[in-house]
Amino acid sequence: MLFGTSPEEGNFRVLSQPATHSLARADESTGGSLSSNLKERADDARDRAFHAWATGYIFEKRAQALRKKLQLVSFLGLVVPLVVGGLALSYGVGFSALPVIIIVGSAIGIAQAVVALWSLVATWVEAYDHAVRSAVNNKALTREFEGVARALTIHDSAAAEIELRTLEARDDAQRDLDTRAGVTEPQKREGMRSALLRTQRKCVRCEKIPESMQPTECGVCGDYNNWLSGWR
Ligand SMILES: [Zn+2]
Repeated sequence: MLFGTSPEEGNFRVLSQPATHSLARADESTGGSLSSNLKERADDARDRAFHAWATGYIFEKRAQALRKKLQLVSFLGLVVPLVVGGLALSYGVGFSALPVIIIVGSAIGIAQAVVALWSLVATWVEAYDHAVRSAVNNKALTREFEGVARALTIHDSAAAEIELRTLEARDDAQRDLDTRAGVTEPQKREGMRSALLRTQRKCVRCEKIPESMQPTECGVCGDYNNWLSGWR
């Protein structure tokens, strides 16, 4: 996960407040028998689940965008020679429109070559590979943190505490990898909105519970572009 373990990482740490609130509700349902330490640890687990989901969402979107871009590069690399060669074979080299088609095809071919070169420089394939892995790992961490949080609020369980520590170590390692992959501010806001929507929590800035992934003007949970996020 990418969010909220240090103040300089943005506004996202403040979201631990709603987690505390939801934990208080769980505590009431179990008759207030939880020790304060267990409550804190369950709160930690919910907080990590929240942010792991947000990060997983970001990398899932990134993987989709990179898949589209890689498919486009491959398609353009094949379509130009295929069309020009097909026309030449069908109509012969004397086909009157062939010179124009060759000029247009050459221009597209050069553009494709430039984009293909950029995809190598920008390591799109490696970025796609990381994005897929990160999405899968962060979604798994979300489920497991939520399970541990439930276990901690139901049982006074040493096993749950041990499991939480193991999960935290895995989460820290994943966070390091994700931080190196780089995430833009609009992507963070989109991930935040996804996590708020999923958990039905209020945004600390606009104080609204999102009802959809439609962008808003909120600088914490809404200021991103839907169309751009499909290609970023
Ligand atoms: Zn907001």
